[in-house]
Amino acid sequence: MRYSGFRIIREALTGHKGWGPAWRDPAPRPAYDYVIVGGGGHGLATAYYLAKTYAKARIAVLEKGWIGSGNAGRNTTIIRSNYLLDGNEPFYELSMQLWEGLEQEVNYNAMVSQRGILNLCHSDGQRDAYRRRGNAMRLNGVDAELLDRDQVRAMAPFLNFDDARFPIKGGLLQRRAGTARHDAVVWGYARGADRLGVDIIQNCEVTGMRIEGGRIHGLDTTRGFIGAGKVGVAVAGNSSRVMALAGMRLPIESHVLQAFVSEGLKPLIPGVITFGAGHFYVSQSDKGGLVFGGDIDGYNSYAQRGNLPVVEDVCEGGMALMPMIGRARLLRMWGGIMDMSMDGSPIIDRTDIDGLYFNGGWCYGGFKATTGSGLCFAHLLATDSPHPTAAAMRFDRFQKGLMIDEKGVGNQPNLH
Ligand SMILES: Cc1cc2nc3c(=O)[nH]c(=O)nc-3n(C[C@H](O)[C@H](O)[C@H](O)COP(=O)(O)OP(=O)(O)OC[C@H]3O[C@@H](n4cnc5c(N)ncnc54)[C@H](O)[C@@H]3O)c2cc1C
Repeated sequence: MRYSGFRIIREALTGHKGWGPAWRDPAPRPAYDYVIVGGGGHGLATAYYLAKTYAKARIAVLEKGWIGSGNAGRNTTIIRSNYLLDGNEPFYELSMQLWEGLEQEVNYNAMVSQRGILNLCHSDGQRDAYRRRGNAMRLNGVDAELLDRDQVRAMAPFLNFDDARFPIKGGLLQRRAGTARHDAVVWGYARGADRLGVDIIQNCEVTGMRIEGGRIHGLDTTRGFIGAGKVGVAVAGNSSRVMALAGMRLPIESHVLQAFVSEGLKPLIPGVITFGAGHFYVSQSDKGGLVFGGDIDGYNSYAQRGNLPVVEDVCEGGMALMPMIGRARLLRMWGGIMDMSMDGSPIIDRTDIDGLYFNGGWCYGGFKATTGSGLCFAHLLATDSPHPTAAAMRFDRFQKGLMIDEKGVGNQPNLH
């Protein structure tokens, strides 16, 4: 069924009896040509582009819980392509362009809202760094504007300009950035992939990998053995656990990141705003809640919930920027498991095991990459060669010292 305004009117007039499930609930087949492990945004997008663009084949996505139960349904929904380094920027801009056409592509309202992202700077050195980043973005054909203090004030007069501990000196603005509704992205890709014949199998945890003679032949799961020609792993925070089934130890640590939503307020924040003197970012949802977050919890964990010191730290960052939000009530908060890579950049690569491919290390920034990651991973799975925009996202960059260290903090995940 195609969704359209016409369809809504027709269903409204006929008692809404014609809506079908958005995707099937098939039993696993004995074998597939391609099996994607992980029904988050990246896994589902991979299956979608694989089926649509690259391979007329038998494809399945295996998800241990329900689709979107991981980070895809837990993030703060920011999409942007404001990166500095060449290994990153073309990839994130490809992702941004895919976001711009996503709703037509999958015929689903993902509430993509290009409201802009404003990164605030609070020192001359930080302004220089933003100027450099903005210039790098422009050299890659991406929109970027450096704003002075008055321009920031005109755009966001509610920020603390008068007696702030860290005065606002300006900001870097990307107008095409914004937000998208995270679970709608998952559902849109799931529905799109299902329509192309992909089997989405939920409640199916991968518990083992059958590897013989250096080649993968299939997966042990909680729903039995499933044979596979090629296996693509896209399990985000569970990357180390799942790849350990193949005997691999990854340059990845898992940490918790928390998100927060306030009670509904009248429209206040025009786009996404980030605080440059600490780690705090905020946007406002269509329901009025302020959606915000900050640093990762600074220790390793597989728990999908965080701890109070970071709650305090994040709220302090928010109040330093906008003191009046201290009067808003916090409605809810939650945590997700971040697959923090050693240099803060992702990996989309083959492994030493024939037929086994890996996608992960997205840290706290993988939602914006959902579109591009799906396309590039599908390209790699189908062609065995990296997509040109993801060619630097390889495992061996750690061996060769070719890190993509966007933040310049070295190989310390808790500092990214
Ligand atoms: C609080 C928070 C805020 C964030 N904010 C942003 C943001 O604003 N912008 C941004 O770009 N990014 C953000 N991120 C990061 C982003 O959400 C992730 O990088 C991205 O969602 C990871 O890709 P995914 O969607 O495929 O992951 P997931 O949704 O986690 O998908 C992985 C799936 O694999 C499944 N799985 C795991 N093990 C197995 C197994 N053995 N067998 C089968 N299935 C398995 C899991 O159940 C899960 O559903 C945020 C994350 C969090 C937690």
